[in-house]
Amino acid sequence: MAKYNGPVCKLCRREGEKLFLKGERCLGSTCSIEKRAYPPGQHGKNRRLKLSDYGIQLREKQKVKRYYGLLESQFRLTFERANRKKGVTGENMLRILERRLDNVLFRLGLASSRSQGRQLVRHRHIEVNGRLVDVPSYEVRPGDMIRIREKSRKLNIIHDSMRRVKEAQQLPWLQLDKAKMEGSLLEEPSRADIPVTFNENLVVELYSK
Ligand code: SF4
Repeated sequence: MAKYNGPVCKLCRREGEKLFLKGERCLGSTCSIEKRAYPPGQHGKNRRLKLSDYGIQLREKQKVKRYYGLLESQFRLTFERANRKKGVTGENMLRILERRLDNVLFRLGLASSRSQGRQLVRHRHIEVNGRLVDVPSYEVRPGDMIRIREKSRKLNIIHDSMRRVKEAQQLPWLQLDKAKMEGSLLEEPSRADIPVTFNENLVVELYSK
């Protein structure tokens, strides 16, 4: 499946909830879903669909996939990895998604969104444990130290992120040293500490058919 290049706010409106895909705008009054809380399209406002069980599972899967910014193939592979691990598959899946480097940058507040986190990684502004990492899906492990590279610290995009950090949500499994522009993953997040309201079991049911 090809990469989606259309307006991302439509994705939120399609799923009927905020997926936080646009950084600071998602927190303000200009968020599209605040103004138009109905699906996009000519008939979106009047559409009243009663979803089948399959439809409900599919929508939940789309929501999770879009929230973390993955393509279908990447998402499916993530699910299969989660399924092979010991424990509850849905929770394993969320833990793997949360430990992606682009997500960790967002959760630490070093990026305003996951897509900006991806951009920072791809543009070689990030190092993990002192080594350059340019793969957004890199899986951060407990104890890993994530830093903005020395030569990237003067960039506007980094300064804007650091300015916002004071308002960023702090999670118990992450630690940020704002002065050093670095953060670390303290431990694997528990389900209760992952701030999403998805029903991951619906994704498991969908893929288990
Ligand atoms: Fe979604 Fe953010 Fe757009 Fe609001 S501003 S609709 S949360 S992407």
